[in-house]
Amino acid sequence: MLEIHRLTSREAFFAPEIDRLRAEWAADDARTAASLDGADALDGDCALCAQPTRFALVGGAEPNWRESQTCAHCGLISRVRFAFQLADLRALRRGGAIYLTEQTTPAYFWLLKAGFDATGSEYVEDPARREMLSDYIRTMTGGLERRLRHEDVTRLGFPDARFDRLFSFDVLEHVPDHRAALREFARVLRPGGLAIVTVPFDVNASASLRRASIGPDGRVVHHVEPEYHGDPVADAGCLAFHTFSWDLLEDFRAAGFDAVELALGRDARGGLRGLQLAIVASRRAR
Ligand SMILES: [Zn+2]
Repeated sequence: MLEIHRLTSREAFFAPEIDRLRAEWAADDARTAASLDGADALDGDCALCAQPTRFALVGGAEPNWRESQTCAHCGLISRVRFAFQLADLRALRRGGAIYLTEQTTPAYFWLLKAGFDATGSEYVEDPARREMLSDYIRTMTGGLERRLRHEDVTRLGFPDARFDRLFSFDVLEHVPDHRAALREFARVLRPGGLAIVTVPFDVNASASLRRASIGPDGRVVHHVEPEYHGDPVADAGCLAFHTFSWDLLEDFRAAGFDAVELALGRDARGGLRGLQLAIVASRRAR
C-alpha cells in the first residue's frame, strides 16, 4: 500500500513525525539489505502491473533503491513507478493527454503500450542521430511511434494548454535555464493539469547549487567539480548544471504552478523503498 506524505517546505520534511518515519524506513531498508545475502531482487507486488513481481536491485549489499527496484514485468525503476502512481493515471484513461520529456526509454514505451495518449521528446540536435534513434523507437514500440521528436524544453513546440499531465524524470538538472523550462511546462499544461517531476534533490541544503552555467560566449562555465549523468541518447553523459534543493519549489510557483509539493512515498512491498521523492505541481487556473 502506497503511503504518501505531501510536503511543501524544508521545515515540514524535518518535522519530528517525518524524521521518525524516515528513520524507521531507513532501518527497515538496512535490515532488508542485510538479509539479501547475495540476492539481487526482492519479491513484491507492482501497483502499475497489478500483479506479483520481482524487483531487481543494483548496488549489491548497498542497493541503489532510487535507480533500481526494477519491476520484472513493466521494466520500470522505482522513481518512475512512483511518479506514475502519483499522477492518478486511471482518471486519464478516459482521454487525457500526457507529455513526457523522454521518448527512447522504458517509461515512454510503457505509456504507449498501456494505451495512453502520450507524446514524448528528446533533445537531440544531430539529424543523423535522430534518424538512428527513430529506428530504435520504431523497433521498441512495434511501429506505434514513427519518429524521434526533438524538443528544447525551454522552447516547446506545443500549443498552450495541450496536456493534462507532464512527466519529467531527471532532466531539469541538465537544463541551464531551468526556470524557462518550468514556464514552458506551465504553458503547455491545462489549468489544473499536473506536472510530476523528479530531479536529484538535496533535502539537507538550504539552497540549490549552481554547478555550471553558460557564459556570454556560449561556453560552459563550471563553478564546481563537473558532474555528468548517464544519458540514454548521449554516450558522453550529460552535464548537471544544478543540484536542486527546496528553492526549486519556489521556482515552480513563480512559473505558474500552485499547490507545489514534494511528495515523499513509501511502499516496501510495492518496490518503493529508499527515499522516494517527486515534485507534484498543479497548473494554476488562468
Ligand atoms: Zn510493474
